[in-house]
Amino acid sequence: MTPEECIFCKIHKGLIDSEILYSDDNCFVIRDISPRAPVHLLVIPVLHITRLVDVNIQDAHILGGMLKVASVMAIRENIVESGYRLVVNQGENAGQVVPHLHLHILGAKSLAAMG
Ligand code: AMP
Ligand code: ZN
Repeated sequence: MTPEECIFCKIHKGLIDSEILYSDDNCFVIRDISPRAPVHLLVIPVLHITRLVDVNIQDAHILGGMLKVASVMAIRENIVESGYRLVVNQGENAGQVVPHLHLHILGAKSLAAMG
């Protein structure tokens, strides 16, 4: 899939309507359209990187930036003390459906039963 066809690239360019909760040069954050927890956000790199394994060493700082932004969002969403989970689905068996790297933030409910 090219960046022109990619749903997350289209959201970043404003071609698809979505509320951008946070944005910087490195990544941006939206709410998941079909949330599996009361707080379900996606931290998405601006660069069209297909999978976690495709991150080049020169782009590895992007991952650190995404983790830092996840912490900022968790504070904003008030889920730090109650706890939350960060998930990256890599490939088909993990259930990756959007071929543009993204970090799920899941919180505001107990996730213990979800493994
Ligand atoms: P994954 O299974 O890790 O590829 O997750 C992709 C996520 O993107 C799913 O949880 C979808 O609900 C979510 N998603 C797909 N399209 C949109 C959209 N237009 N806006 C927000 N989230 C979306
Ligand atoms: Zn993309």
